[in-house]
Amino acid sequence: MPNDIVKVVKFGGSSLADAKQFMKVKDIITAEKERRYVVPSAPGKRFSSDTKVTDMLYKCYDIAARGGDINPLFAEIEERYNSIIRELGLDFSLAHEFAAIKNAFIHKAGRDYAASRGEYLNGLILAEYIGFDFIDAAEVIFFKDNGTFDSERTNEELSLRLKKHRYAVVPGFYGSMPNDTIKTFSRGGSDITGSIVARAAQADLYENWTDVSGFLMADPRIVENPKTIEIITYKELRELSYMGAGVLHEDSIFPVRFAGIPINIRNTNAPSDAGTMIVSHTKTENSSLITGIAGKKGFSVITIEKDMMNSEIGFGRRVLEVLEKNDINFEHLPSGIDTMGVVVATSAIEGIRDTIMNQICAAVEPETISIEDGLALLAVVGRSMVRNKGTAAKIFRAITEADVNIRMIDQGSSELNIIIAVDDKDLETALKAIYAVCVK
Ligand code: ASP
Repeated sequence: MPNDIVKVVKFGGSSLADAKQFMKVKDIITAEKERRYVVPSAPGKRFSSDTKVTDMLYKCYDIAARGGDINPLFAEIEERYNSIIRELGLDFSLAHEFAAIKNAFIHKAGRDYAASRGEYLNGLILAEYIGFDFIDAAEVIFFKDNGTFDSERTNEELSLRLKKHRYAVVPGFYGSMPNDTIKTFSRGGSDITGSIVARAAQADLYENWTDVSGFLMADPRIVENPKTIEIITYKELRELSYMGAGVLHEDSIFPVRFAGIPINIRNTNAPSDAGTMIVSHTKTENSSLITGIAGKKGFSVITIEKDMMNSEIGFGRRVLEVLEKNDINFEHLPSGIDTMGVVVATSAIEGIRDTIMNQICAAVEPETISIEDGLALLAVVGRSMVRNKGTAAKIFRAITEADVNIRMIDQGSSELNIIIAVDDKDLETALKAIYAVCVK
């Protein structure tokens, strides 16, 4: 049927950790007939001290690779799945699969193969339980010889394959190499599979079901009960996740962003919460002045001073060349007429401080050069900031009234974000102060 609405739904490990969670997942899937393609993770933690099945598989494979006895741990893994099957009352057995996998472990089929079985087996159970077809990701998700994801081949073959199945489960996290061995994405990679399936299905929406009701406007360890972000653009999300606010695997953005498909982060344990919608563009303003705020400690600033620096052509380039030669990424370049600052992660210059100072001295002969550590960066992100006069003034007044010294300000040229540097020790105070004035 043309013009049908299609939703791709991905469920994280905690959403499929046991039979009780499987029941919630079934209710969610069957509540809307548009939820046609389902991407499961492997069973995650049932309680905080529990072990994810993926970690058990890695461990079990490592024992096999050393020639050890895998029987006790393998039996535990089998029991994770068997208890789900039993408690769901399914007339279904994975005995053949377990035997084949165990045999492959003993014959050293590869660590990626081992880890991928977590999603594979969970996908088989889920497909059986909800009555959907099962598509093995190894047949539709492809990597290139060099180990990178083959997006075009995958998109072509997966699109064709999905057309043959109105309702299907495609396990997350893995695909196959040109030589037919199994390869996984990096940890948390089922998010990527979900995004790839959404693109291939030309879905209207990619729902990513997890155990939180979306992105929060600030870190809940710093701000008490922060609000959930209702709508965020991909660009805003990049700014916030760069500063460490993460729920979603970073690489999972690209396939859907490319295809203009929105992502909705939802909570399996609170399915009536609207969650966070991630979109390419939106005219909708958030009810607050900003979309979110994040902060990170551990930066250093290299300050270089030289009279008449501003008339010396090529000065900045020569400084940055030193960093490039030493494989150092710079974060910001706050500059004055005769001073140039370069903000870098402190960890990036560890062990090579003197080398860098000496090389910069040789390259531009400054009057003074120093490196100061202990800087924290705050990113205040919001697409509405451009249109609202006085946001910056409000933010700086709030920080000052909290008795925090602002060390550097950098307003991104897209006016999507303001970066503020404060002393490490002041990060929490500054973040709370900004949240209090910007969030309604
Ligand atoms: N099961 C894999 C992991 O634990 C992939 C995923 O859950 O997204 O990393």
